[in-house]
Amino acid sequence: MGSGPDLPELVRRARKGEPLAVSRLISLVDTDRGGRHDRLREVAAALAPHTGHAHVVGLTGPPGVGKSTTTSALVAALRKQNRTVGVLAVDPSSPFSGGALLGDRVRMSEHATDDGVFIRSMATRGHLGGLAWATPQALRVLDAAGFDVVLVETVGVGQSEIDVVALADTTVVMLAPGMGDGIQAAKAGILEIGDLFVVNKADRDGAAQTVRDLRHMLSLGREDGNPEDPGAGGGWRPAVVRTVASRGDGVDQLVAELDRHRTWIDEHGVRERRRRDRAAAEIEAIALERVRVRFGDLRGRGALPDLAARVAGRELDPYAAADELEQAAGAALR
Ligand code: GDP
Repeated sequence: MGSGPDLPELVRRARKGEPLAVSRLISLVDTDRGGRHDRLREVAAALAPHTGHAHVVGLTGPPGVGKSTTTSALVAALRKQNRTVGVLAVDPSSPFSGGALLGDRVRMSEHATDDGVFIRSMATRGHLGGLAWATPQALRVLDAAGFDVVLVETVGVGQSEIDVVALADTTVVMLAPGMGDGIQAAKAGILEIGDLFVVNKADRDGAAQTVRDLRHMLSLGREDGNPEDPGAGGGWRPAVVRTVASRGDGVDQLVAELDRHRTWIDEHGVRERRRRDRAAAEIEAIALERVRVRFGDLRGRGALPDLAARVAGRELDPYAAADELEQAAGAALR
């Protein structure tokens, strides 16, 4: 690792918007899996002073709802306004990173030669700690590179979607008519995380009903107050936007609503608080990971097997054993 790339130089080039440098930095954080994260640490330190500009927007929703199509339409709409856009497509179901995933998505190819757009897909399966490591760092790279808006799209399904959402300033939850359990899925926690809702495929039958159902559920769900409501009358009320992403219909309105939310979170200190919460989660994940590594060491060195034998032999209770293990790990940390 000693003969690694010249990081300050890479960061300088990335900040000038050189796609190759941006790509290289993301590869650095993406491949630094396991171990001591020396490169993650260096990259994070080099980038941190240059972050805080980007509006990070997370897009989530069931497969097939139109996330990719919407992402592409959003990129087009934002570019029309001369804003630069970074796109991170996160696939928690695949162990392979790189450009292939989006590369074969023809609709994104219209942006392929535009320097104001950077598109990258990342796989997170099999990644120790799931999204904990590489995704926030990749976002940091795009933020430091100066992109005005960074779109994070999940390609897969599951808990990782929620994790991705936790990284965003603004979370867009997508639904579509005729997807059966769309609203049901929404019930399982996804309503709370949406800052904005999109009913895509509004060209299909049932769109009006989906909007009505959604509005109804939102009014129920938020009855006892939005936890982010900073005071009477000051709460955020998520809009429901109807789109036909494949034709670009409603996408300008979606952009306007994204901007409205960005303004709102800035004015109410919510953006700052979310960033602090994210930082806390990140610090915690790093620290816990270190402890876990230390416990692993103890496992190898016999502290854990010894304690286990004593507990099994009823010589020690498991709480006392955990105390001892903690002390040993504490000693190992120093
Ligand atoms: P994702 O899995 O959520 O990323 O969904 P995709 O963006 O890949 O879209 C799934 C399918 O729905 C594709 O065949 C799209 O062309 C189609 N699609 C996307 N948006 C619309 C829309 O507004 N109306 C209709 N009828 N089809 C759409």
